[in-house]
Amino acid sequence: MSKFLSEKYLSLEPYVPGEQPKVRLVKLNTNENPYFPSKYAVEAIGEKELKDTRLYSDPDCAVLRQAIADAYGVKEENVFVSNGSDESLAFSFAAFCPKGAIFPDVTYGFYKVFASFFSVPFEEIPLKGDFAVDESDYMGRGETVFLANPNAQTGIYMPVEKIEKIVSSNRDRVVVVDEAYVDFGGESCVPLTKRYDNLLVVQTFSKSRSLAGARVGFAIGDRGLIEDLDRMKFSFNPYNVNRISQILAAEAVKDEEYFKECCDKVAATRERTKKALEDLGFEVLPSRSNFLLARCEISGGELQKRLRERGILVRHFDDERIRDWVRISMGSDEDMDKLLIALKEILT
Ligand SMILES: *Cc1c(COP(=O)(O)O)cnc(C)c1O
Repeated sequence: MSKFLSEKYLSLEPYVPGEQPKVRLVKLNTNENPYFPSKYAVEAIGEKELKDTRLYSDPDCAVLRQAIADAYGVKEENVFVSNGSDESLAFSFAAFCPKGAIFPDVTYGFYKVFASFFSVPFEEIPLKGDFAVDESDYMGRGETVFLANPNAQTGIYMPVEKIEKIVSSNRDRVVVVDEAYVDFGGESCVPLTKRYDNLLVVQTFSKSRSLAGARVGFAIGDRGLIEDLDRMKFSFNPYNVNRISQILAAEAVKDEEYFKECCDKVAATRERTKKALEDLGFEVLPSRSNFLLARCEISGGELQKRLRERGILVRHFDDERIRDWVRISMGSDEDMDKLLIALKEILT
């Protein structure tokens, strides 16, 4: 740290991303998709598109926003596109939290970091004993609600009817539903955005559309909320999504068939892996996402270490409630077989 950093940032605890290895390991630590992006996305980038990067990208992301609007049955004016969904979440913390924010004690670690960055007071609401979100904890509150659904780290899904109760009991405050994992087995809240002007649904191309490295996310909501997000973006980084990524994402979102096929494969791998882990004596939370949170008699940190020695990366979090657990992203079936063989070795 230099002596020049503003004092207000001295206490900031930055988000710690999962390891991005330089050598080839079985990578099950950051919830990426094992399958390639849509071939139409890959084929759309040629020499012309690369040469065109001399020009700025479209600050309105018009083609991509229309493609997302078509795919989700909303209007272009209801769609905001961002540099990863992290940017939509960051702008939401900055723009929509006049009375602070609330979110579960076990969830996406970035919520806490964004709250600190933007000096938003926050409260972490404990999950129930079974790691589910209790919707009554979030009803009729004054703070802005942030909920990942399915929830991050646990994978547990909350039915749309329960989310609707939270949204309808907080009409004077925004409820942000982060659907990074919804495509792997949940139902989206996007249709509710037509009835509730205080609901913002955030999604990403990083997980279900295999474009983590392209950094594209989006938010869907009432036109007023989208105008507010645009106000933030045009005050910060108008060309927030680069030309190549806008093309990749627009093609990916149009390829509904391949998208469904990949999501189904990941969900099938998840169910097969869950059963195999249980057969090995693991406790595994019921997940509708592309990862499993699991624990055995070996502590989470130790298990992560022993898997790494065998060339397999999983994620361990030091947060008190999930310290005993590891989070395992769904790779290809071949990757999961390597994991299961390694676990068998470690446990016997
Ligand atoms: C991965 C993830 C994100 C961030 O996704 P990007 O679009 O890559 O920024 C947001 N929320 C949750 C819950 C995630 O797991």
